[in-house]
Amino acid sequence: MTKEHEDLEAQPSGSLSRDGSRKFVQPADVRGRFTFRRDLIFAFLIILLVAVPFIHMGGHPVLFLDVEHRQFFLFGRTFNAQDFWLSFFILSGVGFALIVVTTAWGRIWCGYTCPQTVFLEGVYRRIERILEGPRERRIRRNAGPWNVDKIWRKLVKHLLFAAVSLVLAHVFLSYFVSLPALTQMVMHSPAEHAEAFGWVAVMSVLLYANFAWFREQLCLVVCPYGRLQSVLTDDDSLVIGYDTARGEPRGKVKDTSAGDCIDCGRCVKVCPTGIDIRNGLQIECIGCAACVDACDEIMLKVKRKPGLVRYDSLLGLAGKPRRFWRPRLAFYAVLGLVGLVAASVAFHSHTNFEANLLRPRGAPFATTEGEVRNTLDLHLVNKYSDATTFRLEGIHGDALTYVFPIPEITLGSLASRHIPVMVSIPEASLQPRLRAHVRVVPIGHEEDSVIVDEPFVGPVH
Ligand code: SF4
Ligand code: SF4
Repeated sequence: MTKEHEDLEAQPSGSLSRDGSRKFVQPADVRGRFTFRRDLIFAFLIILLVAVPFIHMGGHPVLFLDVEHRQFFLFGRTFNAQDFWLSFFILSGVGFALIVVTTAWGRIWCGYTCPQTVFLEGVYRRIERILEGPRERRIRRNAGPWNVDKIWRKLVKHLLFAAVSLVLAHVFLSYFVSLPALTQMVMHSPAEHAEAFGWVAVMSVLLYANFAWFREQLCLVVCPYGRLQSVLTDDDSLVIGYDTARGEPRGKVKDTSAGDCIDCGRCVKVCPTGIDIRNGLQIECIGCAACVDACDEIMLKVKRKPGLVRYDSLLGLAGKPRRFWRPRLAFYAVLGLVGLVAASVAFHSHTNFEANLLRPRGAPFATTEGEVRNTLDLHLVNKYSDATTFRLEGIHGDALTYVFPIPEITLGSLASRHIPVMVSIPEASLQPRLRAHVRVVPIGHEEDSVIVDEPFVGPVH
C-alpha cells in the first residue's frame, strides 16, 4: 500500500483534507431497499427528461419553451410574452413546495430527484464503476503509477463522460428548440447556427466539468437550497440519523459491553459526500440513504436489528415521539391551499385568444348625413396552438349597426392583428352611455367565444 493510499484511507470524513485541499470522494457500492427505489426513480426521471420533447399535446410538445419566437407551450396551452406573469405562480409554487417537502421529509429532493444526484449517481458514477471497479480498486489505481491499464480506463471513462454530457446538452436544448430544428442543426455545419452551437458547447463543458470533477462540491458549496437546510427543517423533520443511544459505545461484535455499532466504517465509505453520519446531522448530508442500506446490511450480517442508521426525526432518534403535524406544517398547508387557489384562478383566466376593442386616438366619432359613426379597432391575438379562423359579429341593439371590412380572419398561432370595426347609429337615436358590442367567435372552438365592448361616443356626450 502506497503512502498516498494509506492517507486516503486514514483521512477524516468529508470532502476536505486537513490541509484544506479537496479530497476526491470515492463512495463504495451499496445495495438495499432505498438504493433500489432510488435507481427506479433515477431511471424514470431520465426517461421522462428524454421523452418529454417527443410527447405532444395540442400539436406541440407538452413542455416547449420557444424563446426565440417568445412562445411557450405547456400541456396543450399556448402562452406568449404577455402571459409571463403566470410564471410567478409556477416558480413560487415550486419554491414553496420545496419548503414544505423539506420541512416534512428533509432532503428527500436532494437524495432522490435533484438532477445533480440523478445524473451523478444514475449515469456518471455508474460508468466510472463499470470501468474502474469498486472503491478500493479505484483508490489503489488512482494512487498508483500511470500504466497502460490506468490510462485506457481513464481515457475511455472521460470520453464516455464527454459523450454523455454532449447528449444531455442536446436534450436540454430540445426544450428550447423544436426537434425538427434541432435535427437540422445537428445535420448541418455549426457555422449555420453558431448561437445554438455555442450554447451546446458551453453546456457540454459545464456538465462534463461538474459530473467528472466538481460533483458533490456543487451540493456543498454552490447550491443555495443545501445552505437553507438548517432553517427549513426542525426536530420533527424526517432526516437520516444514527441512533447514538443504541450504537454507542462502539466496539467489536463479540464485545458484550459495547453498543450495536461495530465501527466497521461502512456507512462512511458509501457516503457520496464523504461524511460520517455518526457525528450527527450535518449540512453535507444530501439524504441519499446509502448509509441506511449499508448499515442495515452490516446489522443483518452480525444478526442485529436493522435501523441503527435510519430515517427518523431528531426527536425520534432521541427516543421521543415524532409528530408529523405541527403548527409550522399546518401553517404551510393553509398557505399552500391559498396559493393553489390563486394559481388556479390565474391559469383559469388565461384564454385561448385575446380580443380587445379599442378606440384609436384622435378620432372619437364622425357625423355624416344624420349618422354618427365610431371607427373602433379590434386587436386580436390567437393563442391557440394552431392557426384559427375568427368570425366577427356585431351585437345589434340600441339601433347600432356594424360594418366589418374583414368579417373573418385566420391567424397563425400567436399571430396578432388590428381589425377596423365601423359602428354607426342615426343621430336621432343617439343616447348617453351607449356601448358597442362585438362577439368574436373562434371557428371550431365556438364555446370559447367572447363579447368585447367599448363606449359609443357622439355629440351628446
Ligand atoms: S450521511 Fe448517509 S444519507 Fe447523508 S449523504 Fe452520506 S450516505 Fe447519504
Ligand atoms: S455501518 Fe453501522 S455498524 Fe458500521 S460503522 Fe456505520 S453505523 Fe456503525
